[in-house]
Amino acid sequence: MVIEEIRATPLAVPVAPGQHRTSWGEYRSIGLLLVELHTSDGIIGYGEGLARHAPRAYAEVVDQVFAPMVLGRDPFEVARIWRAMAGAFSGRAGGIAYEALSAVDTALWDVMARSAGLPLFRFLGGGGAEWVEAYGSAVSWRSEETAFRQIEQCLALGLRTIKLKLGSPADEAIAWARRVHDHVGGRARLSADANGAFDLPDAVRVGSALADLGFAWFEEPFRPDDLASYRALAARVPIRLAAGEGEFSAATAHELLASGAIGLFQPDCARAGGITETRRMIAIAEALGIAYAPHVGGGGAVSAAANLHLAAASTACVNYECMIFDQPLRSTLAGGPVAEATQLVDGRLRVPQGPGLGIAVDPAVRDRFLVRDPD
Ligand SMILES: [Mg+2]
Repeated sequence: MVIEEIRATPLAVPVAPGQHRTSWGEYRSIGLLLVELHTSDGIIGYGEGLARHAPRAYAEVVDQVFAPMVLGRDPFEVARIWRAMAGAFSGRAGGIAYEALSAVDTALWDVMARSAGLPLFRFLGGGGAEWVEAYGSAVSWRSEETAFRQIEQCLALGLRTIKLKLGSPADEAIAWARRVHDHVGGRARLSADANGAFDLPDAVRVGSALADLGFAWFEEPFRPDDLASYRALAARVPIRLAAGEGEFSAATAHELLASGAIGLFQPDCARAGGITETRRMIAIAEALGIAYAPHVGGGGAVSAAANLHLAAASTACVNYECMIFDQPLRSTLAGGPVAEATQLVDGRLRVPQGPGLGIAVDPAVRDRFLVRDPD
């Protein structure tokens, strides 16, 4: 079996006002890169890379750089193909190149598992974990009306942990956490995601308040490269710190994990070098006794499924990020919802049971969200 065709498709979807507001601001559109591999055996494998902005640039990287490394190759050579793709760009791993690589790598794993006739999580040796505990993500920052509606929605779905977004200034973040905590009134555990909004003094104040309120974790108080602040905060505040969605390579993830600063690791296989490199990261976390919960964020159906399979395949996984805002590329791209809140049963999601990722992209939906070249 060889790869006969590789198709990289840039997709984007608008986001309704107020639906997805973080400390960075408001997302009004979300892009992604879809990769489809067609094999000589008639198998189609799918992969997705994060491509929040300028997704056409990602498709160019695949077409011009990665396609010659993949076409004509046996997909079971994935380790060597991955090494060639990762070596195509000099400098530290990261950026558009790695997010595009992630899509190609995930599609290779999808092809392999499909050819074996196994769902990916079983192909990875994760049998016995068909259901994954989920948490609700994420309650929007600053709009009390939207936030309280989202919390009631999470509670009605049986979610036992709910994450809220917050950000600078610290006083406002603390007041917000208290208001949401009081509204929830013990009906669920809460966690908070700052998307890198704070400096160390403010993070100490916010983290202390969250610890007092019994929050389960404090996510990304700092930018991913500010490891010194993560270490300092962990030494000063009794709350579990979470990070990892910004990691591109197992080498930098190892620095974060070995620092001892975080207690919850959140890589996203649509950024972190696909299934190949994300598995390496998760293995490091597991070896160091650090819990794992995949990042999903604004991802589409393919990355939501891939992250769910990785979650099921790892005994370090404690939770899956189940998104509560509508993202049509997640709910319709595969012809039906994938890892959606509407599919929760008692706060858990069932891993797709078909071969590979267990989903298939609907070409008509793909074409509807295609980002076309300018005329
Ligand atoms: Mg986050």
